[in-house]
This record gives sequence, structure tokens and C-alpha cells, in this order.
Amino acid sequence: MIFSYYSATILGVSLSYSHIHKFVIHIILTLFMAIIAIIHKYNRDRGRVVNIGQKILLLLKEEIPEIEYNRYIKHLVYDTKKSTSDTALFYAPNSLVLNWIKNKYSSKIKHLFEVHDSSNVTVKILLKNQIESKKTEHKKEQKHQHSLLNPSHTFENFMVGGSNQFAYAAVKSVSEKPGILYNPLFIHGGVGLGKTHLMQAAGNVFQNQGKIVIYTTVEQFLNDFIRHVRNKTMERFQEKYRKCDVLLIDDIQFLSNKEGIQEEFFHTFEALKGVGKQIILTADKHPKKIAGLEKRLQSRFEHGLVADIQPPELETKIAIIENKCKINKVILTKDIINYIATVIESNVREIEGILSKLHAYSQLMHVDIDLQFTKSVLKDQLQENRANLTLDIITQNVAKDLNIKPSEIRSKGRSKNLVYARRIAIYLCRDLTQNTMPQLAQYFGMKDHTAISHTLKKINELIQNDEDFKVKIQELTNKITSSS
Ligand code: ADP
Ligand code: MG
Repeated sequence: MIFSYYSATILGVSLSYSHIHKFVIHIILTLFMAIIAIIHKYNRDRGRVVNIGQKILLLLKEEIPEIEYNRYIKHLVYDTKKSTSDTALFYAPNSLVLNWIKNKYSSKIKHLFEVHDSSNVTVKILLKNQIESKKTEHKKEQKHQHSLLNPSHTFENFMVGGSNQFAYAAVKSVSEKPGILYNPLFIHGGVGLGKTHLMQAAGNVFQNQGKIVIYTTVEQFLNDFIRHVRNKTMERFQEKYRKCDVLLIDDIQFLSNKEGIQEEFFHTFEALKGVGKQIILTADKHPKKIAGLEKRLQSRFEHGLVADIQPPELETKIAIIENKCKINKVILTKDIINYIATVIESNVREIEGILSKLHAYSQLMHVDIDLQFTKSVLKDQLQENRANLTLDIITQNVAKDLNIKPSEIRSKGRSKNLVYARRIAIYLCRDLTQNTMPQLAQYFGMKDHTAISHTLKKINELIQNDEDFKVKIQELTNKITSSS
């Protein structure tokens, strides 16, 4: 009675007890439904988040070499709680996996989110920071500190032909009998011909046997050296490099004219060789031809075995493309493969760029890869490689390769080696840029365009008659176009 009077007063209307009862029940039911809906949405979102992270990694698996998935991507853990619609957060078990994925796959992961989740996320990959795992990983990392080996660089994935079979056989036998047969093994050859691949193939064999492998470029070795000198921790530097079982050093030509690092490298080399640890080195030229390299290093490098790699023949290029298609899951017809092999002269790295471009375009534009489509992509790629080239860049590259100053190439000097370098620079400038002959004459300080046309004629004759010179020009072209 009191209740009905009270409620009637509140609402300002006359309501019976049963009306109020119904009203309260209605409110409770509405609240209940809302709570159920919220819980449901929360679970659905959580479910979506759980699935999307895993789903994206599985989609990535479809697109990349299985061996890379198993070695790196498989170990990523998606954080369902901290990931949001703007950020996809993954954890990597150690810095090796972290760096690899960050450099190679984070933009691909982002792209997969865009395509399959319509979301524009920032992909964040952090180190898993559980104390337990930190301790064990720390040990592992110490062991593999430098061995950022590409797991796809294996002997099985390396296509052998006349151009590279000597180097292949040498590296293969060293991988079977390290420190005994050829120490050091020195591989040299032009850009993109498979030196790093071969060296790392041996590295992967050793690493799988549990050996401590250090793979580094001269540049990284130098940076590491400078850092330790600065921090006064040279003993740690020496200990690190001398403790490994196998030392792989890439691009030795960059030791040229750097006395301090040559000295340090010499001692590292002697220490490792003295205890029978295998050393493999690569460079773009024979040790004898690396200018500004100490005599004692040069003779040490020649002491083991020096093997060269030549540009691949057509059949080898075809085999390489077929193999790359297989591991990158790209399907191409025979005529397309033949076409790519003919157009790409020697730099195998360019082949990879083209395959991934073909794959990406065909996916984005939902078109099949046919010959016409391939031709247009290749044209773009080749133009893109050359678009940024300037006369300065080409001249600097030629000067560096022939170990003279760029200013000397453009001077009026008439010594034999200057004339030779100038002619090559002029030829490459004409071949790789859109500059006219008068523009080249002005740049190289020549009287007029007839001097340029005379030079081009001379170089063309040499290319026709001298196979070594032809290869040299090809290598320089590769070097210049892949550095732009
Ligand atoms: P380099 O160190 O001589 O500049 P890389 O070893 O980096 O060249 O090779 C460039 C790319 O070409 C790599 O992806 C490598 O796997 C590939 N490649 C080169 N030669 C071969 C080959 N004979 N078989 C398979 N892949 C090759
Ligand atoms: Mg290399």
C-alpha cells in the first residue's frame, strides 16, 4: 500500500503495484541482455584477436620458404591481450629471430593484416621478456651471436653449372672436412653470383652440427672493432672472434686501405688458422687484385684455395629461376622462365627481385602472370634500377674499382690507366643514363661529341674482341646498377 502510494508519487502518475512490478522486471531484463551482449562481444573480439594473429602467421607460411617459417616465424607469439586495432604485437624468443623478422617480414605481415583483416596496424615485435627464457636465450645468443645465416642458403638450393661448379665443389668439401683441406677458402666473383649463398651454405651445415659459426661482413667486423676500441674492451673482441669454430667473412675487398683493421684481422686470422679452425672468405676480386691490401694478408689468402665464380650460363639461370619459384611458391610457365633468364644477364639477385614483384603484383591485381605482364614488370624493374644513376655515381664506381680518384677520371691526364678508366666511365655513362653525347663531352671535359663517339667505338670494339673485357664491363654494370 505504502509502496504503491510512494511510486505513484514519484512518477507523478497513478500506477498499480503490478505495473511497477512489470516495469522493474523489464529494467532487470534489459540490463541482463546488455551484460550478455557485452560479454559476448568481448569474447568475440578476443576470439577474433586470437585467430587473427595466428591466421596471419599461417597465411605468411603459404608465401615464404618453409625452412624460413620453421626457423623464424614459427617461434613468434602473438599477444592477444595487448594487441589493438592499431597495433599487432608479437614476441620473438631471441634477438636473432627478432632482427630477421623485422628486416625481412614485418612489412609483409602488415600487408597481410591489411588484406585479410582490413586493418592498418603497426607491427611491433618485441623480445619475450620472461626472466626464465631470457637466461636460456642469453646462452643461445652468445653462441650464435653473429650467425645471421639465411636458412634458405643451402647446398640443395644452390644450382650448379659450369660457371660455379669449382667454387661449389670447394665449399662443399670444406663443409665436409673443415680446417683440413683448404684453409682459408677464398671465393671471388661479381655481384649477385652466389658467393654469400655458398659461404652460408657451409655455415648452415656447421651450425646444424652445433658448431659456433661467426658470419660477418668486413663492414660489421670493422664497426665491432671500433666499438670495442672506443669502449676499451678489446680483449672481449679478440675473445669473441677467436672462440668460434668457423669464421665466415664476406666482402673482404673492403679491407682495402684500412691498415688498423687489417692488422687486427691478421691476428684473428693467424690465431684461428693456428688451431685449425676453418675460415671462408669472399671478395669481388682475386686477393692479388685487391689494392691496398697488406702483402702478408694477400699471401695468407692465397695460401689455401682461391676459387672463382663466373656469370651463370643460360641453363644455370633457368635452373636458378625454377628453384626460386619452387621455394617462393611462384608458378611460372616455361616461356616466362626462359624470357627472364635471357633478359637478366648475370646478376641472380635481380632475378629474385623480379620474382617477388611478379608475385606481389599478380596477387594485388588478381591477374595471372603471363608473358606480357612479365615483360612490363621487367621493364619497370630495369628502368627503376637505372633511374637513380647519375654521372657522378658511375664515375665514382669506376674510379673505386680501378683504384683511382674520380677527379682523375675527369681530368685531362693522358696516362694509360687514366685513359682506360675514362673510356670505361664514358661507355657506362652512355649505356646507363639518358645523357646525350654533348652532355657527356662537357662532363668529361672533352672538346665535343666526336671525342665521345670515338671513345664509344673503341670500347665497343674491345667488348667484341676481348672476352675478359666484356665480363669486366658486365660486372661493373652489375655493381653499379645494384648499388643504386
Ligand atoms: P653475392 O654474394 O655473390 O653477391 P649472393 O650469394 O648474395 O651473391 O646471391 C644473390 C642471390 O642469388 C641470392 O639470393 C642467392 O640465393 C641467389 N643465387 C646466386 N647464385 C645462385 C645459384 N647458383 N643457385 C641458386 N641461387 C643462387
Ligand atoms: Mg655477397
